[in-house]
Amino acid sequence: MFKPLKILDEIDPKLRDKNEDVTFPLSKEDKKMIKRMIDHLTYSQIEELSEKYDLRPGMGLAAPQVGINKKYFVVVHEVEEGKFDNYVLINPKIVSYSEELIYASTGEGCLSVNRDVEGIVPRYARVTLEGYDENGNKIRVRGREELSIAFQHEYDHLNGILFVDKIDKDNPYKDQDKMRMI
Ligand code: ZN
Repeated sequence: MFKPLKILDEIDPKLRDKNEDVTFPLSKEDKKMIKRMIDHLTYSQIEELSEKYDLRPGMGLAAPQVGINKKYFVVVHEVEEGKFDNYVLINPKIVSYSEELIYASTGEGCLSVNRDVEGIVPRYARVTLEGYDENGNKIRVRGREELSIAFQHEYDHLNGILFVDKIDKDNPYKDQDKMRMI
């Protein structure tokens, strides 16, 4: 039985708290939560289900957004219509990134930010992360373009950073010419 997650709004101080490293084996609660996060994100990207459950579409969620101050996040990436790649990253670190910067043409979105935000968020065009999967195996994942943005966005959540923090307040389109729009 699917139950939509309660996602904290940006004003919630828990989004700014320190997040702890995860220890293995994962607790039952964390395992369950990871599954719910994947389901929620998948459903949110399937129109019929997002309407049925009143879900705002999103491709990533980090544990602090559901009130858990631990270092893990989930990204559900639609690679073709109705086909999704799931990424679960636990205790992740960005180990390398491109020099090239990009930004999302539509602006970035966040399931914790319930308002329209103008401006660009500079992101690396490509990133490589290392972390652990749900079974404690070391993993290495690479992302480019929108997947790269998603990884960086979720990684920031684990450090208490929201995308809105990265938009220049005085000039939301600052350095736009130095980045590639995707
Ligand atoms: Zn977010």
